[in-house]
Amino acid sequence: MLKIGFIGWRGMVGSVLMERMRQERDFHGFEPLFFTTSSVGAGGPDVGQGAAPLKDAHDIGSLSKLDVIVTCQGGDYTQRVFLDLRKQGWKGYWIDAASTLRMEKESIIILDPVNRYVIDAGLKSGIRNYVGGNCTVSLMLMALAGLFANNLVEWLSSMTYQAASGAGANNMRELVAQMAALGKASGKLLENPSSTALEIDRLITGELRGGRLPTEYFGVPLAASLIPWIDRAVEMGQTREEWKGYAETNKILDTKDPIPVDGICVRVSSMRCHSQAFTIKLKKDVPLDEITDMIHSANEWVKVVPNDKESTIHELTPAAISGTLTVPIGRIRKMLLGPQYLTAFSCGDQLLWGAAEPLRRMLRILIEHLG
Ligand code: NAP
Repeated sequence: MLKIGFIGWRGMVGSVLMERMRQERDFHGFEPLFFTTSSVGAGGPDVGQGAAPLKDAHDIGSLSKLDVIVTCQGGDYTQRVFLDLRKQGWKGYWIDAASTLRMEKESIIILDPVNRYVIDAGLKSGIRNYVGGNCTVSLMLMALAGLFANNLVEWLSSMTYQAASGAGANNMRELVAQMAALGKASGKLLENPSSTALEIDRLITGELRGGRLPTEYFGVPLAASLIPWIDRAVEMGQTREEWKGYAETNKILDTKDPIPVDGICVRVSSMRCHSQAFTIKLKKDVPLDEITDMIHSANEWVKVVPNDKESTIHELTPAAISGTLTVPIGRIRKMLLGPQYLTAFSCGDQLLWGAAEPLRRMLRILIEHLG
């Protein structure tokens, strides 16, 4: 029976992975072993076979007995353990949520509804590292898979509206704490029906600039504001998050002629759904109904939302789709720029398709492959 080790299972991505695996009754047909970097010997989760004590996630000896390792522990852990394991001759499969190995030649970025052909070719050719993609890139590809599959995209610009969860659990807490502080500060004015919006605004602006809001993790207020910078600077004035758009899209699709992808990545105050506004230059003028059909039929999770107000405000928002696997895309229309220019807007739960779900599905694919 396959021995499969789980590391990082209690973190944010790991918890969503465990939840999805339980929902889909994935814990069968293999022996699951749970590891920790912090509490060796404590009780592990019971996934239907009784709870066993947690093993040491840094013990190369224990890890090297595994057939598959699934890690949501983070890049530092991957950096610390992965090379040692491989150097010692470990030939197992490594499935990872962290970005460390994504761009390595010996890794495949996994998003099977979009690139199953790349995954299958990788398994056939003996590739053993399978890494989840950047959340924004994965969600963009889930939404626009139909256009890429029909080789219609000449270039693409994605302007993003990214949720607090992408920065980690502490950032989510900080966002809500900032909201609570603003709510508390403005409580009296809100209760008073004769207070004006400008008075409330002055008070909120004072709070945003007053240095009293919790900002340990974001560095500045996000509630009632936004932050047009995610991750560190790279070349050409881009952030690393923006660079991933081009690098990962082309790696996921295994393009022969790379497709230019660029845009500005912005942190906004949604909790766990990333949204994106696309400007797409098509390779040719294709009627809108054909484009909509292509987008709609690309996979079972993408959902085309009609370009009208009621549908948009009820179906195309983080509030509507948080916690679901649906990837809505709407506001689809040709632009005044010309008939080959398309615009659209999409959102998606970044902890599901953006993080845990591709890993869960890769594990299933792998178990089938090894079986
Ligand atoms: P996380 O929540 O910080 O969890 C990572 C580890 O921190 C846990 O496995 C746990 O390890 C330890 N930990 C310490 N205190 C904890 C606490 N109070 N609750 C839970 N865990 C605690 O990390 P994450 O956001 O899931 O990200 C994991 C990896 O996925 C990263 O490489 C990240 O870049 C990548 N990723 C994240 C996202 C995202 O949206 N957050 C999206 C795509 C990819 P022990 O059990 O060993 O102590």
